[in-house]
Amino acid sequence: MFRHLFGPVPSRRLGVSLGVDLVKAKSCNLDCVFCECGKTDALSEKRERFKDPAEIKEELREVLGGMTPDYVTFSGAGEPTLSLDLGEIIRWVKGHYPVKVAVITNGLLFSDPEVRKELAAADLVLTKINSVHRDTFDKICRGKPLDLEAFMENMRNFCANFPGKIHLETFIIEGLNDGTREILDLTAYVKTLRIEKWQLNTLARAGAEDWVTPASRQTMERLLKEIIGTGYPADRVEIIGEVREIEGKIEMNEELLKNMREKREYRKEEIEKIFK
Ligand code: SF4
Repeated sequence: MFRHLFGPVPSRRLGVSLGVDLVKAKSCNLDCVFCECGKTDALSEKRERFKDPAEIKEELREVLGGMTPDYVTFSGAGEPTLSLDLGEIIRWVKGHYPVKVAVITNGLLFSDPEVRKELAAADLVLTKINSVHRDTFDKICRGKPLDLEAFMENMRNFCANFPGKIHLETFIIEGLNDGTREILDLTAYVKTLRIEKWQLNTLARAGAEDWVTPASRQTMERLLKEIIGTGYPADRVEIIGEVREIEGKIEMNEELLKNMREKREYRKEEIEKIFK
């Protein structure tokens, strides 16, 4: 029985991504209004062991014995860096299988040297910043009061020293962070980060709050144009598109698919793009 793995997920950013959930639903140090996992009832502050690592490895053995996804991705129902087992399991996967590892993180724990060390074993880190303006950041991310300057500095240091690739996501919400001043100030900051790609995203499934609606294509294209207009390299910034269809579709495992659907809603067309 699979309890900790889900998918493989048809991911707009990662292709075929086998999800590993190291935390219990929903454990996060933020409560983002757009979160596809729903609201964070109580913020989690401390790193802890949520699950038995032996069980997670057993499930990984079973799935990776039969398939190689584009990525094994640590994400799920919360913030993976809150798990004390993150580093150990990334290293174990990399030591046993020829597969790339990605971690999706909000970056709050880039301040922790142990977390930075654990993440260093991954091939790709996907992190995010939605605004460099305090009031907008707080409206979107709703966590414990945060020293935004320190957070931005920690992210800059992490990007400068991480040995693998980093993709940065900005989640656009109409009426909150889609203004010209917002995007120009954010661009000035992003230019100081050593990242491979900057990805503009908007709501594709239901978020934590009903009032969050997807930004229009027109808004997303205007923002992209404004970013490129500042001299930001056009080949390093993109709007996240639809899930791509893969060749040689994957055999569906009902249990892994059920786990995936419990985390987020997926449209039938998305599922059909990667499963037989
Ligand atoms: S989007 Fe990520 S960081 Fe924000 S509440 Fe959801 S899991 Fe936490």
